[in-house]
Amino acid sequence: MPRTMRCYRHPNRETRVSCATCGRPICTECMVPTDVGIKCPEDAKLPRRARVGAMRPRQLAKSLLAGAGVALVGLPVVYAIFQLGFLTLLLSLAAGYGAGTLVHRAGGRNGGAVAMTISGVAVAIPYLILLLPELLSGGLPAIRLAAAALAVLTAVYNSR
Ligand SMILES: [Zn+2]
Ligand SMILES: [Zn+2]
Repeated sequence: MPRTMRCYRHPNRETRVSCATCGRPICTECMVPTDVGIKCPEDAKLPRRARVGAMRPRQLAKSLLAGAGVALVGLPVVYAIFQLGFLTLLLSLAAGYGAGTLVHRAGGRNGGAVAMTISGVAVAIPYLILLLPELLSGGLPAIRLAAAALAVLTAVYNSR
């Protein structure tokens, strides 16, 4: 005779189904069907960051490609942004937003540490290249550095 279990949320209900993630028994009312099997309501509702690593190789390749594109296109864009004085911060915010969204979509909207790193690095590259001569000559372009940080943070936040 199969061992009967009791739903961990409804101890008075017998069941033979258990959560694919935590293994706790769940009754028919509690079970949530997911791509990877039946889960308890808690595991089915895990936050985004718990799904990190769900990116498939093709999505990873696309993310990297999107990141390379962002870094390349970013050079003239950031150069232009730097010419616009007080708009630099605002436009950097927009650029970071766009870049982060792009990388996030390229990765199949999986987000996670990988996508966040790719967009962060991709956005940082053009800023670094354009700021390097000034930094090396001992200058401290405060607004532009702040703009770079803002763009990178926005990009990372948007591809999480
Ligand atoms: Zn579970
Ligand atoms: Zn239940």
